[in-house]
Amino acid sequence: MIQIPKGTKDVLPARAYLWQTVEREARESAEKYGFKEIRTPVFEHTELFARGVGDTSDIVTKEMYTFSDKGGRSMTLRPEGTAGVARSFIENGLAGGVMPFKSYYLISAFRYERPQAGRLREFHQFGAELYGSGEPAADAEIIALAHRFLRATKISGVELRINSIGCKHCREKYAEALRAYFAPHIGEMCEDCRSRYEKNPLRMLDCKEEGCKKYTSAAPSMLDYLCDGCRTHFEGVKELLSALGIAYTVDPRIVRGLDYYSRTVFEFVSDALGAQSTVLAGGRYDTLIEQLGGKPTPAVGFAAGLERLLMIMEAQEIPVAERLPDCYIAGMDAASRVKAQLIAEELREQGLVVECDLLDRSLKAQFKYADKLGFPLVAVIGESELAAGEAEVKDMSRSASERVKFADLANYIRGR
Ligand code: ATP
Ligand code: MG
Repeated sequence: MIQIPKGTKDVLPARAYLWQTVEREARESAEKYGFKEIRTPVFEHTELFARGVGDTSDIVTKEMYTFSDKGGRSMTLRPEGTAGVARSFIENGLAGGVMPFKSYYLISAFRYERPQAGRLREFHQFGAELYGSGEPAADAEIIALAHRFLRATKISGVELRINSIGCKHCREKYAEALRAYFAPHIGEMCEDCRSRYEKNPLRMLDCKEEGCKKYTSAAPSMLDYLCDGCRTHFEGVKELLSALGIAYTVDPRIVRGLDYYSRTVFEFVSDALGAQSTVLAGGRYDTLIEQLGGKPTPAVGFAAGLERLLMIMEAQEIPVAERLPDCYIAGMDAASRVKAQLIAEELREQGLVVECDLLDRSLKAQFKYADKLGFPLVAVIGESELAAGEAEVKDMSRSASERVKFADLANYIRGR
């Protein structure tokens, strides 16, 4: 028996409505802000992620699904959504269109990680990208969209943490300060941190090893090293969030796992998730587009992990309404069954959710099926009903039934 690959999950039909609900809330939230959907390929040239995500990030150094195609090109299944959107923005000349550029995506992403709760090898993201504005208003707009989306899912206890990691000028001084701080401890830190120490010491703050975490809590804060421009920007973002009534805490430990961030970084964390507590994360990446060969274009965005979001909804028992079926059409004999199927088609044409028997079941078995699936009404057609052009419509919640003309069925069902 062939089994599902490790770190992947099926969404079975009985649970699909949960996904569809969250996806609908994602689309509706994004579209309220004028973001339009973008769809880019599931795989891209490996080079895009190496340059876009950054070759000191965990994603590029150890998590990518990379393969050679039959033409000998190195391809990678997308580990995140931003690099592909940025590539498409540049390649399609979208910088010449309406600015700011605002788009969102609903995608699956792939990372070779150790599977555990909230950590999969194929997972799903809802993300938004806003290009062309370096204003604090753009950061606030992106955070407001993220906040509105999470609120729409009705989950509670989610906290917004923000930080600024400055620009490449102020970050350089900070990197030096971090190296000086970590120098006496580096021998006791993990192998990854020793390499991060050389290449990108900020990344050390993001280390998940307990042995390393105990040193990061007392590390110097980026906020003490921000240049004037970065400080003013961060103050602007915080003021706007307060004005918008979006609660946040400043957390100087947040650096994010991707190399491309600058200035604002943020995470929405939930206490319902355990170790993988970040449900949505994002920030500003003003150098990314240029790094990928485009004209310098400021950018800000986020991505939410949909599996983690669904885990919170489940833990908090958030009720999610599923569209219920409207009416089951039962046929008693061969001729009535044919009529049942024709009537079902007419009612579907009217927008109703209708089923009929496909297994040549007895009337009793048809009722059992309709009951199991939650049909509120069952319209029965037998020889006499067929002759009269009527159905005997049974209300499943009471044992009452009524005769309804075939032509009136749609209105009758809607009226109930
Ligand atoms: P983490 O610190 O949990 O590894 P990350 O910094 O790698 O997260 P991002 O690249 O910012 O995550 O991705 C945005 C969101 O996507 C995360 O906040 C999380 O909700 C989700 N996510 C990331 N990796 C996974 C994964 N392997 N499985 C499930 N969800 C994930
Ligand atoms: Mg990660």
